[in-house]
Amino acid sequence: MITSVLPTYNRAPLSFVKGEGSWLIEADGRRFLDLAAGIAVNALGHAHPVLVAALTAQAGQLWHTSNLYQIPQQQELADRLVEATFADTVFFTNSGTEACELAVKMARRHFHDAGQPDRTEIIAFEGSFHGRSAAGIAAAGSEKMTKGFGPLLPGFTHLPWGDHDALTAAITDKTAAILIEPVQGEGGIRPLPDQCLKGLRDLCDEHGILLILDEVQCGMGRTGRLFAHEWAGVEPDIMMVAKGIGGGFPLGAVLAREDAASAMVAGTHGSTYGGNPLACAVGNAVMQIVAEPAFLEGVRARAGLFRQKLEGLVAAHPDVFEAVRGSGLMLGLKCKVPNMDVVNAAYTQLLCTVPAADNVVRLLPPLNITEEEIAEAFNRLNAAADTLASAG
Ligand SMILES: *Cc1c(COP(=O)(O)O)cnc(C)c1O
Repeated sequence: MITSVLPTYNRAPLSFVKGEGSWLIEADGRRFLDLAAGIAVNALGHAHPVLVAALTAQAGQLWHTSNLYQIPQQQELADRLVEATFADTVFFTNSGTEACELAVKMARRHFHDAGQPDRTEIIAFEGSFHGRSAAGIAAAGSEKMTKGFGPLLPGFTHLPWGDHDALTAAITDKTAAILIEPVQGEGGIRPLPDQCLKGLRDLCDEHGILLILDEVQCGMGRTGRLFAHEWAGVEPDIMMVAKGIGGGFPLGAVLAREDAASAMVAGTHGSTYGGNPLACAVGNAVMQIVAEPAFLEGVRARAGLFRQKLEGLVAAHPDVFEAVRGSGLMLGLKCKVPNMDVVNAAYTQLLCTVPAADNVVRLLPPLNITEEEIAEAFNRLNAAADTLASAG
């Protein structure tokens, strides 16, 4: 008999009842160190006092009005994002998937209104993840996500990750945009080298194509810059954001340059909940903390420390781990044993991690994890690896 909750998830037999900073407390009282952070969502850990205050203050005032009316919290957050990034304009969604939908629509509408209606094709990459909607699965194109869900939304081409020649060959006069994650998350924590991102920007400029970056997972301070593309010194035309921006409250956004967005006039897109007062109150609080240069510098310092420890972990357990990869506090351990064995061994050490494709275990701690907690995470990973090495 089917379960009352549609059984689409492989859930761990854990049920958390409370969160405090980098810690999750299980119903039985055990304290887990949380390097999952709700899949890079709890950017400031659990129950951050500034976020709790922002949410509860707004909850006592006004929850929701829809976008029939002005929403000052939304205006404030849009201004903050425009001020801090390449973007001239922002649309708020509830999720990364919805950000993907709009990014695709915006790119197509841009060329439609520019008198190039045949430019509808979007080039995306193998191993990518852009959400679970019809556009999201068509964009990622992996059999795992698309099987049985056809006919798929047309207009997507998929290329191997990091193959510049294949990319150059794939561009036609029908190409509207290139869509890519600067650091692949679900695909196994694969950072795109800065040179490649620069090359993509050049190609887009040369052919008059839009560059869409999916920073749903790697954005909002995760790599030690507010957005990952800043490391390469290039700017997208359109960018998808979600996960960390709400710190645990459902919130996403599409950021865009004016030229890319100018066809999206009144009536072309909308959302009932998108950017509601509760979500934006929290988003503003998150932005206020994460966009501070000193905070981002701290992320880079903690990331350097964690990475160094993980290199030691890999060296000490060559039978279990192959390599560390990633950027900032978006880290991956490429495993030699099945990655789920590592995830499960970590659970027995009261440590939460996230599996990814390519046999990788993701480590996505809150961005404000302390040095002591990083040392503790290392100890627990080490103990987990010990159990696997002795078993194998
Ligand atoms: C999680 C994720 C999405 C989808 O976001 P949802 O909020 O789950 O809809 C899209 N792109 C990337 C890169 C992601 O990591």
